[in-house]
Amino acid sequence: MKRTRRLLQLAFLLLTVAGVFLLRANAERWCPLGGVEAIYTYVNEGNMPCSLAVSNFYILAGLVVMTLLLRRAFCGYVCPIGAISEWLRGGARRLRIPALPVHPRLDVVLSLLKYPLLAVILYFTYRTGELIFRGFDPCYALIGRHGEDITFWAYIVSAAIVAISIFIVVPFCRWFCPLAVVLNPFSWVGLTRVKRDLDACLDCGKCDQSCPMAIPVSHMPSVTSARCTSCLNCVEACPTKEEGALMWGPPRALGRSWPQMALIGALAACLTAAVAAGYVWPIPSFVQQRGEAPPDTAAVELQVTGLDCRGRGSLFWYYLDRDDMYAVEGYLKLEAWPAPESAKVNIIYDAKRASEQALKEAITEPYYDATASIWRPSPFEIEGYDSLGLE
Ligand code: SF4
Ligand code: SF4
Repeated sequence: MKRTRRLLQLAFLLLTVAGVFLLRANAERWCPLGGVEAIYTYVNEGNMPCSLAVSNFYILAGLVVMTLLLRRAFCGYVCPIGAISEWLRGGARRLRIPALPVHPRLDVVLSLLKYPLLAVILYFTYRTGELIFRGFDPCYALIGRHGEDITFWAYIVSAAIVAISIFIVVPFCRWFCPLAVVLNPFSWVGLTRVKRDLDACLDCGKCDQSCPMAIPVSHMPSVTSARCTSCLNCVEACPTKEEGALMWGPPRALGRSWPQMALIGALAACLTAAVAAGYVWPIPSFVQQRGEAPPDTAAVELQVTGLDCRGRGSLFWYYLDRDDMYAVEGYLKLEAWPAPESAKVNIIYDAKRASEQALKEAITEPYYDATASIWRPSPFEIEGYDSLGLE
């Protein structure tokens, strides 16, 4: 069981590293915490912090379903920080480096730290519209492309986690992870669980010693702790293999333990569905609207360069909503997918009062800034369209 889980952790880590370093993919677009950080601005303003996309919402939704089924299996099987942290303590154990004992009460107190931490992250992210946690994010520092926008503090946090992980198993996952705050309520009511047969149990305590999340398994009839990562270390460590003192599965499946492959299958299904949804329903990550939709609307889809982020999205809307000689009359709705090279843009407009040509001119022609008495050239280009170049 442990070996299978290690292989999965390694596979997910290699997949992430290959995506970031070989394919130059933006891993932030698949970070579930990004989905939490983006909710407020998306609901209130129709856009999300730069680097994020609606894929963050899909992965977050997939994770919520996964947690409702498997508790915090994401932490035990997928998360690179959890994997690296566990491996560090495993390696230290082999080198006979003793674990630092943490009193259960101190463990409870420390585990509360992540709640104010998430509150601070969300407060400043919502106020500034920037991903302020990125500057301290160990995940970003450990598997990001170094030399770009990783701060000194992210390295300090990463080094601290690495150092502590040598002596204490998964400290970040237990005490500091802001995503755990989001997942815990769903994990609390999670369907599957480790169940203990009190008659078969020898009270040897091996399950407690094997649990990376410091859950006192031998004191519970069934593990309903939100912390449980469904790692099944406890089931594997239990010496009562024949009698089966520890079993994993849904609450009513008494008498037999479900195979770990069922867990892995459900986990893979949730992740695959989340990734697929991002491609099948690519809802826009930047939306703006002016006026009420008339009975006759038309739509045009464009590929635009220079629209790589939320700030550029706002500037794009500024040009579209301009009030000079290139002003577009009537209703307008902009749906955009900001991207570094070429952004997809969908514009819905009043078919009676505007035209595709008028929209293209509004986007690409210079804007006369009457306050400064200068023409401001448009930073946007439409693929396959040459601007008039008039001033
Ligand atoms: S209770 Fe068992 S399955 Fe849950 S985290 Fe601890 S060892 Fe893993
Ligand atoms: S390892 Fe098994 S036998 Fe030992 S205390 Fe835990 S459940 Fe009981």
